[in-house]
Amino acid sequence: MKSLFTFLFFIVSLVSFGQELYNVQELDSLLKDIHSTKIEDSIATFHDIKKKYWDNTVFNPYKEAEVNFPIQLKFKDSSYHSPMHKDKVITSRYGWRRGRAHKGIDIDLVTGDSLFSMFDGIVRFSRYNSGHGKTVIVRHYNGLETVYAHLSRYGVKENDSIKKGQYIGKGGATGNARGSHLHLVINYKGRAIHPEYLFDFSNENKIRSQELWVTKKWTRPYIHNSKRKSRIKLLTTEEEALASLVKQKSVYIVKRGDTLSRISARNDVSVASLCKTNSIRRNSVIRVGQRLIIEK
Ligand SMILES: [Zn+2]
Repeated sequence: MKSLFTFLFFIVSLVSFGQELYNVQELDSLLKDIHSTKIEDSIATFHDIKKKYWDNTVFNPYKEAEVNFPIQLKFKDSSYHSPMHKDKVITSRYGWRRGRAHKGIDIDLVTGDSLFSMFDGIVRFSRYNSGHGKTVIVRHYNGLETVYAHLSRYGVKENDSIKKGQYIGKGGATGNARGSHLHLVINYKGRAIHPEYLFDFSNENKIRSQELWVTKKWTRPYIHNSKRKSRIKLLTTEEEALASLVKQKSVYIVKRGDTLSRISARNDVSVASLCKTNSIRRNSVIRVGQRLIIEK
């Protein structure tokens, strides 16, 4: 009897042990799968920047690419290398200009001034582009591309691996340029990001944060003005980025002498947005004491 129990116990433990062994193996391979795909993903995003959308012949090869906002960006250093060896004088900013979108920042230079790559990367484009003239585009390991336009001379070839601070060509006024300057564009998957949201263009060459989030606001030239510095509130966590997407509503009570444009300017909201949220027209009469919803 005792030996039968021992035998049964032995069988039961063998079965359960086997079961356990099987489960552990299954779990292990499952974990390995998850782990390896994660590692492959991060390697793909950080090292194999030529794997996708690599085309040397077009300015923007990302036409079909989907961009999920907010975009998370990471930088391995706290500073960039200045694109030129002199003080950076901004002559025109990212934003709306003469009825058109100005998707970069203009920095003054003299034709023949040497230009340098802001980060490590691979040259994706080094050729003439209508409007931009002689242009060098460098793709970097965090997914950004820096575009250097209106050059007078190329200093690199397509597919060259380059280091941060490496010479890439000479500045000029080729293409559609009013006088010699560097037109610098910062692209992520073909979307131009407001350069001053990411970088401080003073002599310290600071990246505003090694980890930050970019909302659509910073990829839309028409909500910025090329002549005015935009107020920057950096989003450094996902929580902040997501919270900034939630529209804030407040109520404004119309005062004597108010007009829609005055209310718009005072509350930092467009007349179009005021009309839309309050179902009124631009020429609608507003009364003193009327309540208007401000949404931004
Ligand atoms: Zn420009």
